[in-house]
Amino acid sequence: MLSVEEALAGILAQSNRLPSEAVSLMEAQGRVLAEAITAECDLPPFDNSAVDGYAVLSTDTESASSDTPVTLRVIGEVVAGELAEQQLLTGAAIRVMTGAPMPVGADAMVMVEDTRLGGGNTVQILLPARKHDHIRFRGEEVRQGDTVLTEGTPIYSTQIGLLARAGHGQVRVYRRPRVAVISTGDELIGIEEPTPPLGKIRDSNRYALGSMVQEAGAILHSLTHIPDDLEATEAAFRQCVDSGADVIVTAGGVSVGDRDYVKPVLEKLGRLEFWRIAMKPGKPLAFGQIGNTLFFGLPGNPVSAMVTFELFARPALRKMAGYPDNAIMRPIIAVTLSEPIPHTPPRREYARAIVTLEQSGFVATTTGNQGSSRLSSMMGANALIVIPEYSNGLDAGEQAQALLLNLK
Ligand code: AMP
Ligand code: MG
Repeated sequence: MLSVEEALAGILAQSNRLPSEAVSLMEAQGRVLAEAITAECDLPPFDNSAVDGYAVLSTDTESASSDTPVTLRVIGEVVAGELAEQQLLTGAAIRVMTGAPMPVGADAMVMVEDTRLGGGNTVQILLPARKHDHIRFRGEEVRQGDTVLTEGTPIYSTQIGLLARAGHGQVRVYRRPRVAVISTGDELIGIEEPTPPLGKIRDSNRYALGSMVQEAGAILHSLTHIPDDLEATEAAFRQCVDSGADVIVTAGGVSVGDRDYVKPVLEKLGRLEFWRIAMKPGKPLAFGQIGNTLFFGLPGNPVSAMVTFELFARPALRKMAGYPDNAIMRPIIAVTLSEPIPHTPPRREYARAIVTLEQSGFVATTTGNQGSSRLSSMMGANALIVIPEYSNGLDAGEQAQALLLNLK
């Protein structure tokens, strides 16, 4: 049996980053930048005030205190977006709003809170200003031509803001993989059909996996079901490849049942690597390629399908979408177990769990019965506890590692 790491390494080695495309700024959310972005001008672009207050010559205010204020003549006002008309000379002050350009001649700002209105057009300064107080200087944050975002950066709200500030209405990002999801099985009934007769069950994998594709930031290319039939299986795989799917994900039909056709068809149309992975849930996994289309044949049990998607397909999709190595996998944290978890070697187990932050740190509690057909064991789970291959069970209070599912 292959270890989880060996299987993942084999998969990632064949998951190639897709070409880039230009998208509008607001469509870039959650995508990965395919170009470096440089500043179009110095930032801030001009010296400006960080406060609402008065532009002064700091030397004029040296003796100021609340008992002996310095009185200055207010000779003008500058609001954000405009330029000061007057030059500041000694004995004068100019009212300046936050973000407005500094008047020529001034070397400090005094906050409104440190002033009092005087009689006539005057202001009383209650504190000495030091040179450069409350001024944001041109280029102090970024210089024109500096790199503000490097290629390979995932784009979220901060990056959208930085891109906007650099004047980019369009950006180049890596293409997202188009993923075809196929459920297999004669026993399955789709959501559009009436209550299943005895012997049939509702198809849940098709929809759950389709949703996981979208949660991973990939495009759901198609969502279909095929019966356990050789010709239907071959026709469905061909159709996905011909219509431009970058990835095919199937569920079911990969074990040793009499009517498991996924492996033979993949072998006929492309290349099959079939692995038994030392993990629970989800031992069998068919991986391969049909032409340039990557293929994941996941096990059919609903929990196995979702956990193997999480551990193997999701990292591949993230890598194809251009995510850097440190953003391909979920974060792993140390947790304390609130209860014992039984285990028998030699397969690594991933227990669905709810992690909460207590005073003592992160505490993990399993979602109960961990049977791999029990979809309800995924309910509320925000983590997978990793139970090592050769553990004979973990005790309450023991430390374990957990993958956090709700973080990117
Ligand atoms: P298989 O790997 O095809 O033998 O399926 C293993 C188990 O998972 C069987 O009990 C199937 O009925 C069940 N199963 C397979 N596919 C689905 C599906 N799409 N939705 C719900 N259960 C499924
Ligand atoms: Mg089946």
